[in-house]
Amino acid sequence: MHEQNLIKNLIDKIQELASDEPGRPIGVRLRLGALAHMSAAHLREHFDREILGTSLEGIKLEIDELKDINHKEAQDVILESLKFEETDGH
Ligand SMILES: [Zn+2]
Repeated sequence: MHEQNLIKNLIDKIQELASDEPGRPIGVRLRLGALAHMSAAHLREHFDREILGTSLEGIKLEIDELKDINHKEAQDVILESLKFEETDGH
């Protein structure tokens, strides 16, 4: 199923990026294109289901919904940013 693969790919990417950081990922921001054919609620539902039982369980998900159908990424769901737990370097 296309959207499930899309979410899995995003989660793989997040885990890959997280493995290079000392802190645990605590927040993720996704950008949802106007033509992605998925509502933010539906995206969240898939995301929450996919992270169950993984190192990302409990991460805070924020979704920016693009309204511009002419945007070059209007059909995509993009990983915009990741937020990591602060680690004091001492
Ligand atoms: Zn679905």
